[in-house]
Order: sequence, then structure tokens, then C-alpha cells
Amino acid sequence: MTFRPASHYINDSLHIDADILVSALPYFDYIDGVLHIDGVSSLELAKQYGTPSYVYSQRAILDNYQAYSRAFASLDHQICYAVKTNSNLAVLKSLAQIGAGFDIVSKGELARVLQVTDGKKVVYSGVGKTADDIEYALNADICCFNVEAVSELDTISQVATRLNKTARISLRINPDVDAKTHPYISTGLKSNKFGISHQAAVQAYLHAKQLPYLQIVGIDCHIGSQLIDIQGFSDALDKLIELIDELKSHGIHLEHIDLGGGLGVRYIDENPASVDDFAKLLLPRLRKLGLKLYLEPGRSLLANAGVLLSRVDVLKPTEFKNFAIIDASMSELIRPALYEAVMAIIPTDTRNAREIHTWDIVGSVCESSDFLGKDRACGLQVGDILAITGAGAYGFSMACNYNSRPRPCEVMVDDGSHRLIRKRESLADLWRDEII
Ligand code: PLP
Repeated sequence: MTFRPASHYINDSLHIDADILVSALPYFDYIDGVLHIDGVSSLELAKQYGTPSYVYSQRAILDNYQAYSRAFASLDHQICYAVKTNSNLAVLKSLAQIGAGFDIVSKGELARVLQVTDGKKVVYSGVGKTADDIEYALNADICCFNVEAVSELDTISQVATRLNKTARISLRINPDVDAKTHPYISTGLKSNKFGISHQAAVQAYLHAKQLPYLQIVGIDCHIGSQLIDIQGFSDALDKLIELIDELKSHGIHLEHIDLGGGLGVRYIDENPASVDDFAKLLLPRLRKLGLKLYLEPGRSLLANAGVLLSRVDVLKPTEFKNFAIIDASMSELIRPALYEAVMAIIPTDTRNAREIHTWDIVGSVCESSDFLGKDRACGLQVGDILAITGAGAYGFSMACNYNSRPRPCEVMVDDGSHRLIRKRESLADLWRDEII
């Protein structure tokens, strides 16, 4: 293995063995030296759809979902895909068709879900729900609000009373456990803005109990994202079980427990727990509880089902560093700039041997934080098409138009066929809604 630990990449050249990496990605293969995505040549995709472009394998997404269904089959459960991960309607529709519910954090995400299915399997998380958001969700008959503040209980009750509709609610508890992930994607510490503290939870439930038009149905937590070590889930579950027992002594009996999302994935050399390990760790306690289980995975369904294809436009060796400037940037994929995420960047065509140099692979946005990969040992030529793997999650959904860059297209591949699922934005799209 030629991987170097991802955390040690700065000032150290990171050589990624693309063959090894791709062999661990279902539906991605090198065939005669060319990267194929579920049977389709990535070079052909780049030619037909242009670059930068996001390409997803539908079968990989659905298999990742089914891995959860199988692992938790012995328990009454509902998997609610976290829409923020990748909110393309084609992704949502394919998941809805195999029984997925949805975890949303905004009215916009709910509106997307309603394009492909009804609201009955939707859980609504999010720290700043307004009366308007709540009304929209009540009218869509969503399954449950994951309430993040005591004042939100009052607002939901007021809106529900006005609409004469009962709101099903669950409290999102902040269990104050360390998820051991990047601080920007840790959400279950008391210093984070999310949820209601463990200490304040029982009082909050008692408050909810006496408000009109609220039906208490659950308890929820989500402690962070890209969790490699799953002990945090176990600690959070213990804290929730304590609360569930205490609530019973107050006459509050719940129907479900929601443990959020957060399971990590391998981007480079991480060793995340599998869905089966995750289930094994939690199932004995969950069976004893006898509540329906909700989960809200996102990254673990989508990340490794997608790549971002990008062309090398300029090679710029300097005395200090070699820069390879590609046609993707932090505007299209912000994870490296925002979280210092290390993502694999691999060739799509390995047929010609190249001299290896160390490159910073960067975009052309006017920011020094605009990098996709630092100190990568690889052979590059202008015109090469590269694939950034792990890009199916938090890729397009976090893309923006900074530097007036039209957002990329998205393509779905399914068992040898492919289709456009979002058009590349045009220049005119950039100012479509502006008024001179
Ligand atoms: N649920 C909630 C409330 C979230 O905020 C998130 C992501 O931040 C998720 C689920 C999905 O997490 P992941 O993509 O790590 O599975």
C-alpha cells in the first residue's frame, strides 16, 4: 500500500494508488486502463457531458441504502436519507422508490422531497425553524419535527393550534459526547448549537406535554459526521436510554428513537466501521428498548457512489511548488477548503506512463484556500481528466457560483447506461434572477 495517513499530508507527498483505491469502490473499475463507472467509461462521460461534472452510480447508492435495511432488519426501523448530502431529485426519487424516508433541515429540502414523494416519512431537523417553515411542514403531514429548542415547541404548538393539526414531535438531545471528528462537523458537544442539552431535556418534555396540539413521539440525536470511531454512537445511545427511562417515570412513553446519521466513509486510508459493525454495536440495546428506530445517514450512502470529473487546464511548476490548475475548484467542491478534507484525486486514464512529480491540485478561484489536493505525487499532463472520488456527498449540494462559475452538471449511471440528471448551468443562469 502506498497510502500515507491522511492527517499527515501537509508538506508530505501523498501518493494514492488508484488501483487499490478503486478496487475498494463497488461499481468503479479500471477496464483496460480507463476508469469505468458501472460499466461506462469516464472518458466517454467527460467527452459527452464536459467537465467539471458530477457522476453518480445509482446501483452504488441503492446498495448502500440496502446495507442499512439488511443490518437493521430484525428491528422495526425507518432509514431517513439526509437530503442535504445530495439533494438531486433523481437521487431522492431512486431512494424513495426503495422505501427511504428523508431527513430534512429546511423548507427547500422538504419542497424537493415533495417533488418525488409525500411527506409521511419525513423527519424535520434544523436549529432555526420559523413559523412559516413549520406551517409548510404541517401542511405536508410530515412524520415528525426533531425539535432543537424549547422555544421551538411553543412555535410549533401555536402554528399547529392555528391550523387545527396535531404536530408529532421528538426532541433532539445534545448528549455532550465527543464524536472525534472535524470540529466543523461535530454536533453533539455542549459547545455546539445543536439540540437541547441532556440536563434540560426532561423539563423540555414536560413543557411539551402541556402544550396543545403536540404529540410527543420520539427522542433524537445526531452527534456529527464522518465518524470513524463508533464509540460516540454507543455513548449517545446510553445517554438517550437514561432519558427514556426517566421520561417513563413522568408518564411520557415514546414510540421511536432516532440516532441521526454520521457513519464515516473511506476517502483515502480511513478505516470506518461498516454498517454491520454499527448495527452489531447498537442492536442489543435497541431490541431491549422496543422502540422503532430511525436513522438519518447521508455521507455513507452517497460519498463513494460519486466522483467529480475534472480536466487539467494549466501546469505551473514553480521554484517552491508545482501547481496543477484544474477546471473544478472550491466553488464546485468545498470540502478540502472548508474542512481540510483530504480527498483522493485519481487518473481516469492510466494507459500512458507519466513522470511523477509532486503537485498541488488547485482550482482557478481567486483564493489561496482554493485547493482540491495538496502535495500529491502523480503524473499529469494538460488535458488529462481526473476523478475526485468520494464526491457524491456534500459535493454538488455545497457548490456555489463564487467567481461567477456556472455549477457543473450531474449525471447518473446505472448498469451501463447514463443520463443527465441536472444540466450544467449556463452563463445566463448566473444572472437569471438579477434586476438591473
Ligand atoms: N442528520 C442530521 C440532523 C444532520 O445534520 C446530518 C449531517 O450533518 C445528517 C443527518 C447526515 O450525516 P451524515 O452525512 O454524516 O450521515
